[in-house]
Amino acid sequence: MQCRERLFHLRWENGYVCPDCGSKSYCKLKSRPLYQCNKCHYQTSLTAGTLFSHSKLPLTTWFLAIYLITQDKNSISALELKRKLGISYNAGWRIKHKLMQVMKEHDDNRKLSNIVQLDDSYIGGKQKGKRGRGAEGKTPFVSAISLNGEGHPIYMRLSVVSCFKKQEITDWAKKHLKEKN
Ligand SMILES: [Zn+2]
Repeated sequence: MQCRERLFHLRWENGYVCPDCGSKSYCKLKSRPLYQCNKCHYQTSLTAGTLFSHSKLPLTTWFLAIYLITQDKNSISALELKRKLGISYNAGWRIKHKLMQVMKEHDDNRKLSNIVQLDDSYIGGKQKGKRGRGAEGKTPFVSAISLNGEGHPIYMRLSVVSCFKKQEITDWAKKHLKEKN
């Protein structure tokens, strides 16, 4: 799935809802990556309220950075991010710190609560040519976003899992999700 589409589903699992009036009717603006409510004309960006907001970097870069950092949490350097993502050193540094901060805040023993949106997908792996690692080279990960009452994301966690088998996901959920309260 495309990053933007993926994020859309993460944010509005049951379809778009206007953050202002609650209407479900919207249109996508062509000029900018904004969604506009057909009823009250409130505009919202897909990344508003998430760690991606105010970033000029494309979502693919963020997703790849998340993947690289969750794989190699302590040691990936800004320089490596620069090289692997094809961005500037400064951008690499900012991404790293932003993600490390988010992960630190949301890591630890805090379990996700409230409404949690879950998604699973694969990152990485070579898609073209026979020399690539193929589908088996892809890394499955689970992303979870906890939303507040207004549907705004408050916590986010991305975890690399070994597979999407039921047991693996059950273990993941036990570890990261709060029992229904
Ligand atoms: Zn509206």
